[in-house]
Amino acid sequence: MYEVLVTGGAGFIGSHFVRRLLRRDDVSKVTVLDALTYAGHPENLGEAFLDPRLVFVHGNILDGPLVDELMARHNAVVHFAAESHVDRSLTTADNFLTTNVLGTQTLAASAGRHAIAKFVHVSTDEVYGSLAEGSAGEADPVQPSVPYAASKAASDLVALSHFQTYGLPVCVTRSSNNYGPHQFPEKVIPLFTTRLLRGEKVTLHGQGEHVRNWLHVEDNCDGIELVLRDGKPGEIYNLGGGTDLTVRDLAAKLLALCGKDGRCVTCIPDRQANDLRYSMRWDKIAALGFRPVRDLDEGLAETVGWYRRNPDRWAPLTRTPYVTAPAVREEVHVH
Ligand code: NAD
Repeated sequence: MYEVLVTGGAGFIGSHFVRRLLRRDDVSKVTVLDALTYAGHPENLGEAFLDPRLVFVHGNILDGPLVDELMARHNAVVHFAAESHVDRSLTTADNFLTTNVLGTQTLAASAGRHAIAKFVHVSTDEVYGSLAEGSAGEADPVQPSVPYAASKAASDLVALSHFQTYGLPVCVTRSSNNYGPHQFPEKVIPLFTTRLLRGEKVTLHGQGEHVRNWLHVEDNCDGIELVLRDGKPGEIYNLGGGTDLTVRDLAAKLLALCGKDGRCVTCIPDRQANDLRYSMRWDKIAALGFRPVRDLDEGLAETVGWYRRNPDRWAPLTRTPYVTAPAVREEVHVH
């Protein structure tokens, strides 16, 4: 039976993963450890709180004694907790390094002192940096561009060092950009959607030509669960296979779904170190049986539908930095 400690389980991906674990008969306990930063919301777990197997602990992954106490009562860890927003890392990177790197060290060291049979460290394709051509495999070097990606790359290496040094059964997953219901509205898909639903403009960095791979959050969770169950300790698994799309083309899809047109789009100067293109090979996880199955157009329609139906969940968050619409005096080109 799995007794799983899930860090960051009140965030976007972590909460989807917790709900999924609670649908499994071989999971006897799920404990969420979450500091409830601006990005963490217990409402993301909703009816999961009705399940007696769920325990919620409001606490920090940097709190060694608390982590030790929890670790002793579990046999698996899935580690989502992180500072996760690139734009925030451009202005204040310290907490990215503290949470993402030292937090991972605190968890891995504690896991090594207890009978943890699998430690899944959840990471990102951004660690590979921008690729002009080709696709990154798991053995390729990390070349992060921005502090967020650097902190995740460092945390991957910290986690894997606990496998090399102490034999802790660590696996690392690196996924592309996730989307789906109840993502915090600073990330591009919910940011554009909530602005359009409020009748505001959306902004493209440069001309919006940056390419991202869009993976439905449940496809990512399929892969993470596969790695939890069958992943080989010491291995990294790329989780790609979503749909490649420029941010401009993504905006066009969201405009259509929200009943708006190109007059709602503004271009602003590009962000610092904005990677032009990410791309991964994901044959290793495919060999374990992974196949992303959610169609992007259907997934976006479902996601926009969720934001339409649940303004009470996101409207209170729209006054926070990185969600509030920026001043348009930076505008360089209006369509
Ligand atoms: P999120 O920002 O929605 O959630 C992060 C959660 O971690 C929040 O609930 C927050 O309260 C919690 N947290 C932050 N600091 C903490 C601390 N010190 N102690 C305990 N809890 C803390 O993030 P997300 O989008 O769900 O991403 C989850 C993980 O997946 C992250 O590690 C991220 O790097 C990775 N990832 C995300 C994406 C994506 O597209 N969102 C893609 C690839 C990888």
